[in-house]
Amino acid sequence: EDVPVLIIGAGPAGLVLGNLLLAAGVDCAILEQRGRAHVEQRARAGFLAANTVRVLAENGLDAGLSARGKEHDTCAFRYPGGQFELCYRKLGRAEVHTVYPQQHLVADLVAEFLARGGDLRFDTEVTAVTGLDGDRPEVATRDAGGVTRRWTSRYVAGCDGRHGASRRALPPGAVRRHRRDHDVSWLALLVQAPPSMEAVGYAVHERGFAGHMARTAEVTRYYLQCPRGTDPMSWSEDRIWAELHQRMQAETFGPLREGPVLERAVVQMESDVLSPIQFGSLFLAGDAAGLISPSAAKGANLAVMEAEILARALVLAVHTGDSAALARYSADCLPRVWRAQEFSHWMINLLHGPTGTGEEADFLRGLQLARLESLRSSRSHQDHFAENYVGI
Ligand code: FAD
Repeated sequence: EDVPVLIIGAGPAGLVLGNLLLAAGVDCAILEQRGRAHVEQRARAGFLAANTVRVLAENGLDAGLSARGKEHDTCAFRYPGGQFELCYRKLGRAEVHTVYPQQHLVADLVAEFLARGGDLRFDTEVTAVTGLDGDRPEVATRDAGGVTRRWTSRYVAGCDGRHGASRRALPPGAVRRHRRDHDVSWLALLVQAPPSMEAVGYAVHERGFAGHMARTAEVTRYYLQCPRGTDPMSWSEDRIWAELHQRMQAETFGPLREGPVLERAVVQMESDVLSPIQFGSLFLAGDAAGLISPSAAKGANLAVMEAEILARALVLAVHTGDSAALARYSADCLPRVWRAQEFSHWMINLLHGPTGTGEEADFLRGLQLARLESLRSSRSHQDHFAENYVGI
């Protein structure tokens, strides 16, 4: 089968790209290895940046978001010295987040793509991508019944995450990988309970970081820093709540609303950036192009930012043959990606103390508290924080 643009992966990157291409009259197909129900129920991100909301609104993709998304503007930091809140609506560029679970966004984008007549193949795994140095790349797929198929296109958009076929298709040495293992793990929990506070809660504690983020009126996300290699099932619910209460200083700042743990996973804080994020006819977007630690909630937002820039460039190339914007794709995206990486890295150092003991650990703990104190007391630091926290 032959289409101008083949998109691998139906996450936020692939689905935003597909919808923008269809709206501009560029034919494309999306190939997704998992089933529709799976991608529409996969809970991950929830905090959408102002730029993401703009992209969705300008392209008529925001019906669910405007009906059910909730504006969010405050984060609270708890630490040994007390608690302070930052209302970022009043800081920096006065932007806010919109809280809308990623799986709901994905479901909306799937529905819109299909309603616009888009070709979206679920249960279709891409097994190989070849011929990327020419102008007729080939993509091989296998569906759930084991049937294999070959696709050709002019361009391939690799939106299939860090373990997808697109990264595997890059020849050795074609791109450079810059990587950082932050040596921090989070037990990521989805809990059947209303949020315990309005704000996003970040708790810095000698037992490790704990986080609280609203998702919906009935479901809340919590994070607990845990040792590397933790089996997520090895923490009982009693232990989870005891740690959350202690680290979030619930006795001092108010109780947590408990409920059954619906989902749990251990997330390793890792980041990488590929450079360039293109090779021949293959253009990478989202987690396939670079992985960012979830400490500053930027992954889905970078995916949408890249999808918009790539869509514009592909529309121009397919309609007019002018590939100048495609040639600039990496250079247009990477400075923003690095800025987001820098902020996320700073957040990791803000939220996590050293794990060991001794003079060096004491020194690092001192730096961490100085960072918090600067954020608590300096208006210019708060403005800088707000600009980077909500911005891309
Ligand atoms: P994905 O959403 O991973 O989609 C890739 C798709 O490709 C998947 O559907 C996959 O099934 C498919 N695929 C893979 N391989 C193949 C193949 N061989 N063939 C065909 N299809 C394939 N980000 C934020 O912005 N804000 C947050 O608050 C936030 N919180 C997070 C919390 C957690 C616990 C986690 C894990 C992540 C969080 N993120 C957050 C990150 C965010 O979820 C990701 O960055 C985002 O999903 C990236 O979108 P994507 O489209 O690039 O990739």
